[in-house]
Amino acid sequence: MGRTNCGISTEFLQRDQPTTCCPKCNNLFHSSCINDTSNNSQWICNDCTSLPSQTSTDDKFNLILQELKSIKSNKSKSDEALKVISSSVKALNDRVSGQVQTIYMF
Ligand SMILES: [Zn+2]
Ligand SMILES: [Zn+2]
Repeated sequence: MGRTNCGISTEFLQRDQPTTCCPKCNNLFHSSCINDTSNNSQWICNDCTSLPSQTSTDDKFNLILQELKSIKSNKSKSDEALKVISSSVKALNDRVSGQVQTIYMF
């Protein structure tokens, strides 16, 4: 395997230099060559950002991701509901056993 060139400056990527990999094309770039203004979102190289087909795939992916997120939030909602139900069942149990004890006292 030979040395890789930076996709922006076309200079060699040295081992001791910080590099960033584009998640779409897997090309490597000098971290210093990237005008990285986004701290939270994953950096994507210019070639991949300007590809329309990639964007539509991205849209579909985002749609699926949103779907998954909503499923996940629904799940946590039902988990919450389950907690409420189980706690009311417990309260009911306590009441019933309390009543049973009261009956036994007579
Ligand atoms: Zn570079
Ligand atoms: Zn790329």
